[in-house]
Amino acid sequence: MKKVLSLIRALLFPKRCIYCGEVIGFAPRCRCEMQRRRCRLEGEAALLRGVIPRLAGGVACYRYEDPVRRGIHRLKFGGASQFAACYGEEMAAKLREELPDLRPDAVIPIPSTRKERAERGYDIPHLMAQQIARHLAIPIWDDILIKESETQRQHDLSLKERKSNLIGAFGLCNAERLQGRIVLLCDDVTTSGATLEEAAKVLRAGGAAQVWGVVFARAMPR
Ligand SMILES: [Zn+2]
Repeated sequence: MKKVLSLIRALLFPKRCIYCGEVIGFAPRCRCEMQRRRCRLEGEAALLRGVIPRLAGGVACYRYEDPVRRGIHRLKFGGASQFAACYGEEMAAKLREELPDLRPDAVIPIPSTRKERAERGYDIPHLMAQQIARHLAIPIWDDILIKESETQRQHDLSLKERKSNLIGAFGLCNAERLQGRIVLLCDDVTTSGATLEEAAKVLRAGGAAQVWGVVFARAMPR
């Protein structure tokens, strides 16, 4: 009976790839897997070393290219909140792989604007950070870094506009918890690094000893 039910469920709601959205059904993996392998960042390319000056370091799982880009678009605009958990799990694995000695005291999600949360009904960096917290067995601090102003979506801006858009964007609450701590910032995508840089600046000024970063995908300079 259980088997029949799960078969019916599989027929009614066929399993879809969390990246490209194609129906996988009973196939073990999606056809986009090979493409995704090309997007995977390894070693030096995976490390956000030197690109974001205020970060002590960090990691990215993928290049921001299809099918990873399509996956993230689906998260942002398609209401696929359950997939953010899988992405977060990959981020935790990548941290262990590339930075095995890093022991952050907490993970801090880049806060979304109220408008973004209202539009989507969920908060992608927060969902990812929850999984990272669970897999690394560290707390998530979501009441420290706050969005001060309703900034424009970085996505729609030029590089120059991105930086000025963020000035004063973040504020701090409960800063006493930060003192001397090693924290890990979490965001879905980094393009110019301006968001992570601005957030790290605020956290460092607030007393954090080190700020590290983890992102799911990174737009690479051509
Ligand atoms: Zn796929």
